[in-house]
Amino acid sequence: MSRVTGSRTLHRLIYASRPANDEAAGEDQVAEIIRASIRNNRAAAITGLLLVHDGWFVQALEGPHQAVMTTYGRILKDARHRDATVIAAGSTYERGFADWNMCARRLTAADDAILDTLALRQHFEPPALDGAKVLRLLTAVRGIQERTQLRALT
Ligand code: FAD
Repeated sequence: MSRVTGSRTLHRLIYASRPANDEAAGEDQVAEIIRASIRNNRAAAITGLLLVHDGWFVQALEGPHQAVMTTYGRILKDARHRDATVIAAGSTYERGFADWNMCARRLTAADDAILDTLALRQHFEPPALDGAKVLRLLTAVRGIQERTQLRALT
């Protein structure tokens, strides 16, 4: 995708939810979610990242305030997940995930160092974490995703 920029004040919302069942967190459903997300988020100038890990979805959505709230309202109605909890929401001057209208990432064993650094490996309970820590996690995941993509291109 092209990099989304803009100097107006942006809104960022981070939430966590539980996949409704194993199928909802499976490759096919997540690919379906990402396809619809890229299409819709591009039209609404929304960027973000979806982490699928240990029985959780953790997603950052950023963009114009109304667009983020409309998108989150639609996501909340989706039967593929439940128990959505907002972890952080507020204005930001900069996009943290400007390169993606949405991308999904599963953590692999090779990514455990991130969870160790944030002391999250033993007990991953995103709604119990503060927003800054979850943003650090998603930002670290973004870093892995970028490096993986670069490797795939070289
Ligand atoms: P459609 O083209 O109507 O649907 C896309 C595909 O998903 C279709 O194949 C449809 O059959 C299938 N589908 C849609 N809803 C369901 C459902 N409830 N159960 C099973 N299959 C279904 N949407 C965004 O636009 N942006 C996001 O960032 C985003 N993030 C999401 C994160 C999570 C964790 C989940 C669960 C969903 C997310 N979605 C997101 C999807 C959102 O909930 C809506 O399904 C989607 O926005 C509908 O858009 P559409 O009408 O263009 O999709």
